[in-house]
Amino acid sequence: MLIKMRPDATPEDIEYILGRVRSLGLATHVSEDHGQTVIGLLGDLRAVSEGALSGLRGVEQLLPLRAPFRLASREFRPENRTITIDGVTFGGPQIVVMAGPCSVESRDQLMRTAWAVKQAGASVLRGGAFKARTSPYSFRGLGEEGLKLLAEARSATGLLVVTEVMSPEQVSLVARYADVLQIGARNMQNFELLDAVGRARRPVLLKRGMMSTIEELLLSSEYILSNGNTDVILCERGIRTFETYTRNTLDVGAIPLLKELSHLPVIADPSHATGKASLVAAVSRAAIAAGADGLLIEVHPDPAAALSDGPQSITPQQFERLMQGAREIAQAVGRTI
Ligand code: PEP
Ligand code: MN
Repeated sequence: MLIKMRPDATPEDIEYILGRVRSLGLATHVSEDHGQTVIGLLGDLRAVSEGALSGLRGVEQLLPLRAPFRLASREFRPENRTITIDGVTFGGPQIVVMAGPCSVESRDQLMRTAWAVKQAGASVLRGGAFKARTSPYSFRGLGEEGLKLLAEARSATGLLVVTEVMSPEQVSLVARYADVLQIGARNMQNFELLDAVGRARRPVLLKRGMMSTIEELLLSSEYILSNGNTDVILCERGIRTFETYTRNTLDVGAIPLLKELSHLPVIADPSHATGKASLVAAVSRAAIAAGADGLLIEVHPDPAAALSDGPQSITPQQFERLMQGAREIAQAVGRTI
């Protein structure tokens, strides 16, 4: 349940309500919406009678919330959440393209890719420094050295940087270099990590687990939001199905559904969703047509030599063509890139 306070409610009115609610054994989440204080009630609401709260001074309205994910829901916030970082806005009319290698491998590889994707119209550089790999013998990233290279590419090109953080202990280190903290599919339900990025003052790109439902994704976002971080970007990156010709299956319907259920920006990752370079451009167009607010694309100057995810990485030339096609679809659905 939400308690919407009147615009003229005083701090004392709000404190009084908070005290009443807490005396019922419930936790509260206080936020501001267009100058009005909104108090979210968290916990077992069975003991709460609406009559006991609605008549109190300063209360404008009580709103029941049906969704189990509360702060992420459209009911909680009917209008889209927009997240602006250095002039780049997620969740607005413009589609944000994030592109770069799966892993940061060297200065040369990163710089060549960064300049190429910037020239083609990307506004965020992606690249993993800490990599979650299925096999411990695979390349696991350059660690802090990789973060430093990302920061160098950021200052040289002006691109923002998104990179993965894998453990709560890494959050402060990664946040020193990155503009957006990525939570990988394998960590979508690492609840301690979600709490930790919820306390960080950086936007979070939360990837859907490969075997997670939409409700589980939204409940994971709730961990971040309930820690006070309102800036969460949801990412559909494909789920595991019986199909083996693609690495995963892009759940394209998840894009409009997430936008229906939640106010958070939703982006798509056609690279991990398909696992095949030849499919990435077509699936990018599908994601935009379905209403995605952004794309996350793996680009490598020499995919055959990539240390991770080469088969799904596209070349800078292919990326440029992808962007042309993406722009046409964006225009057809009333958006820009
Ligand atoms: C990645 O973005 O390189 C990555 C590892 O993605 P995911 O967590 O979706 O597998
Ligand atoms: Mn990858």
